[in-house]
Amino acid sequence: MPMNRVQFQQGLLMPDFLKQFGTEIQCEAELEQARWPQGFICPCCGHTGYSAFKVGSHKTFQCKDCRHQTSLIAGTLFQSTKLPLTLWFLAIYLISQAKTGLSALALKRYLGVSYPTAWLIQHKLMEAMSERDETYTLSGKVDIDDAYLGGELSGGKAGRGSENKVPFVAALSFDNEGHPLHIKLTPVPGFTSEAIADWAKANLTPGCDVFSDGLACFAAVTKAGCQHQAIVVGGRKPKEMLEFLWLNTVLGNLKTSLGGAYHAFGFAKYATRYLGAFAYRFNRRFRLDKLPMRLLVAAASIGPRSATWLRSAEASC
Ligand SMILES: [Zn+2]
Repeated sequence: MPMNRVQFQQGLLMPDFLKQFGTEIQCEAELEQARWPQGFICPCCGHTGYSAFKVGSHKTFQCKDCRHQTSLIAGTLFQSTKLPLTLWFLAIYLISQAKTGLSALALKRYLGVSYPTAWLIQHKLMEAMSERDETYTLSGKVDIDDAYLGGELSGGKAGRGSENKVPFVAALSFDNEGHPLHIKLTPVPGFTSEAIADWAKANLTPGCDVFSDGLACFAAVTKAGCQHQAIVVGGRKPKEMLEFLWLNTVLGNLKTSLGGAYHAFGFAKYATRYLGAFAYRFNRRFRLDKLPMRLLVAAASIGPRSATWLRSAEASC
């Protein structure tokens, strides 16, 4: 299967990673580059001249024009952290290279931090992944299906309408040769025409050719300027639906990932974040070696996400 190209790639070897990012100075230099690829820019006035010094353990910049001081981590996902950057970088490495995700408990063991700290690191980095992917829309040929967290994941008809499950739209785009490109896994209030129209406007590029099974609400993608074709599958089970083979394969991988790495988590509360992090990793599956640095750029760009904010259901769903 073409998936072998993903499974057998080398990724970034841990000795190489530690050689590059084993010291605080190396990590500071990389974060500075990720945050200001063209060099320091004052967040207040936009001036580029600065002097640098240490405040506590953190590198701090002072603008030569307006005198505003900003630390390297202020305004990033790492703002206010008491942890060394080497530990954050190691967490980024471990999370990005783990094929099926990494639980907070595993992170606690690897990093030697408390469970609440490991949970926060994990959720902050998953949030960075999830928010990064929200900025992209799918285009071209797209297969969509209804799926559920907390029960049957593969869009099985038995799951529809069941209680205590988080419904989400699973969508997969393809290139012209029929190879899968990108996925979107998005919790929705329910499978209604209104919810699907809203989802399509936010997640599809107008002009997409959308294929689904016969569930009526999917026709609402036309409200987002897309074409829609329903493939009626009758009473067949999802695994027998050749039309949606790739999408069902990805949902099967998701089920393995969530079952193996995360055990029980607040499905309803954190569904967006878990699904977003899975999709982020899938969408970059051919560049495993580049993933840590891309995640660092995402973390440097999205800004602070406090523990309170991360724990609130409103923030993540
Ligand atoms: Zn300034």
